[in-house]
Amino acid sequence: MTLEEIVTAVQTALGVQADGKAGPETWSAIYKAIVAPTQDDTLAAPEITGVDARSEKNILTLQPEVRSLARALVQKAARAGIEIKIISGLRSYEEQDALYAQGRTAPGDIVTNARGGYSNHNFGIAFDIGVFEGNTYLADSPKYKAVGVLGMDLGLEWGGSWKTIVDQPHFQLRPVWASDLNEKEMLALLRDRVAGGKPVYA
Ligand SMILES: [Zn+2]
Repeated sequence: MTLEEIVTAVQTALGVQADGKAGPETWSAIYKAIVAPTQDDTLAAPEITGVDARSEKNILTLQPEVRSLARALVQKAARAGIEIKIISGLRSYEEQDALYAQGRTAPGDIVTNARGGYSNHNFGIAFDIGVFEGNTYLADSPKYKAVGVLGMDLGLEWGGSWKTIVDQPHFQLRPVWASDLNEKEMLALLRDRVAGGKPVYA
C-alpha cells in the first residue's frame, strides 16, 4: 500500500472526502469528522472507563494530572476507529541514561539525544502512543497524525507538530508555569523541582 492509499483508506474509514492527500485540509477534515461529533462529551469524566492493560500500566507511571488525558486520548481514538495504546510513560533518569548509551557506549542504534533528566519522560508529563491494527503494532501510519489532532484538542502538546525533532507518537502536558518557556528552560526547572521534592504541576 502506498501512503496515498493508506491516507485514502483512513479518510474513507472516517467518512471524510477521500482524496489521498495528507495535507492540512485533510487533517482539518479528519479533525472535524472525529472531534465535532464528540466535543460535547465530558472526556475527563468518570464514565471514561478503563483502557487496555498495557496502556493502563504505563498511564499509572504518569503524573496524576496527565492520566485522565492519556485515557481520554485512547478512548477518543477508539471512537474514531483508531486503536492506540500508551506504550511508554515515565522513565527514570537511570533508564534514560541507559537509552542514551545505546548507539554510543552500548550496542544498538542511537534512539535519543536526551540524557537522564533531559527528557520530558523523566518527569511523568509525557507519554508515547503506538497505533495498532489487531495485535499488530504500526511504527508508521497516517493515523498518528489523526491522533495528534485529537491530542491537541485535549490540550496536549503533540510531538508531531514540533519543528526540530518531529516525534509523532509523543504527547505531553506542559505545566502552566512553563507556558512561556522553551523546552530547555522547562527541563531545567523540572530537574530543580524534582531535586527539591516539589510537585511538577503545582
Ligand atoms: Zn516521547
